[in-house]
Amino acid sequence: MSRRICKTCGTSYHLIFNPPTVEGKCDKDGGELYTRADDNPETVANRLEVNMNQAQPLLDFYQAKGVLTNIDGQQDINKVFADLDALLQGSRS
Ligand SMILES: [Zn+2]
Repeated sequence: MSRRICKTCGTSYHLIFNPPTVEGKCDKDGGELYTRADDNPETVANRLEVNMNQAQPLLDFYQAKGVLTNIDGQQDINKVFADLDALLQGSRS
């Protein structure tokens, strides 16, 4: 798996989307990065399935009310943030 977590402060990194500056070291405190013990494919697949089962009724509910907006979470992390920000700015005006 591509996720790494700092042993010292708990900051999480992603090797592709949000990598630390120095491999294996936390940007904030130089702490050692590790892989979560339950971060194996089987556990993750199960977690995703449970999440979807819980999320789907909510998605259907808000979709029916016409207030559901989708943001592409597969984009660059800065683009995801920009999209969220634009969405929230728009809903405020
Ligand atoms: Zn750290």
